[in-house]
Amino acid sequence: MKTTILKNIVSFVVMLLVLLIPVSGLSAESQLEPDWMSNEELVERLNEIEEASAGKVEVGMMGHTSQGTEIPVARVGTGDQVIIINGNIHGNEKSGPEAVISMLETLAGDSSFAQGIREEVTIVTIPRFNMDGAALTQRQNVFPWDEVVATYPQLEGADSAWYYNDRNEGFDINRDFNPDLNYEVKAEDLPGNTLLPGFFITKEAQALRDLYLELQDEFGHVEAFVDLHHMGTPETNKTGEPVTIAIDFPPLGPEDSDKYDDWPLLDQDKSKRYSLAAALGVKELSDQEELGVSQYIHFQERDYPGQARSAFALNGTATVLFEMPGQQPQFGYDQELIDRVENGLWGIVTRMADGSMDHLNGDDFFELPRYWTDNVTDMKDVVQRYTNEGEIKSDDAARLMENHLTALEHFEKQENPEKMTKHLESFKTVLDHYSDQGVVTQSVYNRLNGDSDLLIERWSLK
Ligand SMILES: [Zn+2]
Repeated sequence: MKTTILKNIVSFVVMLLVLLIPVSGLSAESQLEPDWMSNEELVERLNEIEEASAGKVEVGMMGHTSQGTEIPVARVGTGDQVIIINGNIHGNEKSGPEAVISMLETLAGDSSFAQGIREEVTIVTIPRFNMDGAALTQRQNVFPWDEVVATYPQLEGADSAWYYNDRNEGFDINRDFNPDLNYEVKAEDLPGNTLLPGFFITKEAQALRDLYLELQDEFGHVEAFVDLHHMGTPETNKTGEPVTIAIDFPPLGPEDSDKYDDWPLLDQDKSKRYSLAAALGVKELSDQEELGVSQYIHFQERDYPGQARSAFALNGTATVLFEMPGQQPQFGYDQELIDRVENGLWGIVTRMADGSMDHLNGDDFFELPRYWTDNVTDMKDVVQRYTNEGEIKSDDAARLMENHLTALEHFEKQENPEKMTKHLESFKTVLDHYSDQGVVTQSVYNRLNGDSDLLIERWSLK
């Protein structure tokens, strides 16, 4: 009898140990390393904020995803300027919801700061737009093509849209927008391409479009739209500083093109002012220097009318893109990065509230550092940095390349396509030679050779 009891006690203790050790180990770890919130946690936190806000924050549902998941939306403020803040349109880009939740917590409070903003601005947030993609940590939503055809029988036999991903069986929702907000998908418009508007195939894009139209009705126009993303991990041209946030205005081709003449409400300068406001917010509200606040990659030719921010900009809304370094799941939770997103949002919202947005100069946005090449001066910046970093190993070679680029800057100013292509080709020959001799490293060669090709292609089209 006694042995049985003893055996039972021993096995009970063993069982306890087995249960407790890993569990306490895990919970200690998860306390040390917070993770991006799940969909369930997001909904729970939104409800908590609404409850604690005593009516100041309203949480509802914007609509359903293509799979029927509810898309939460939170609205705060009574001001007559309305801004939509959209997070996580790409499911593997997760800082948006975290920053928006933190912002809502402040806006739900009783501070005079929050009150001042609520009186002037109405803030409509979609913390996590791509709920299904986020659950899988994938860029696309979930909407297999056979379900698409079942939903739109007119698409039977048509090619799938160019932004549909076969492997993930979903869409890049951020190509599914059309400036014609009443557009309905037609088989003859498929598959389309990057230079054409999207098709409003996904239920997500339709839900955001409907929200936009409702707010347009209520406020006369939607003043601003911010889309929160993640990207790669580039370094600035001039200093090699890691980019900590990259900001952009709508990518709608060269500004002298007539492609968007039918959209007279497009105001690129307004979007640049809002983009600058975001950059200023990141710098002002940080206790660091924030030298990594940059322009997002924006070649003159970049033209994506199917992006949400482009479609809304063509309807007269100022739109801003945030791109944070490093995507999920490779890059873990990062509070500093989330704070930068939030600070950028405050930079915009506070300037809407106090009216100082109108006093900004949109062109000042271009003072922010770049990390890509749009002109010869960008290439020169790169050569100077590589020289300082010792990646160009001969002073003579560095000087010769700089002189070559100074001549090219001259032809660029003259807008002389023949001289540009000819001298870029000879720059490439010089580069080849230095690379063969080991005077420049492989990364110098790759970057400058690629930059030259890009500019040659541009100038040969003129
Ligand atoms: Zn993205």
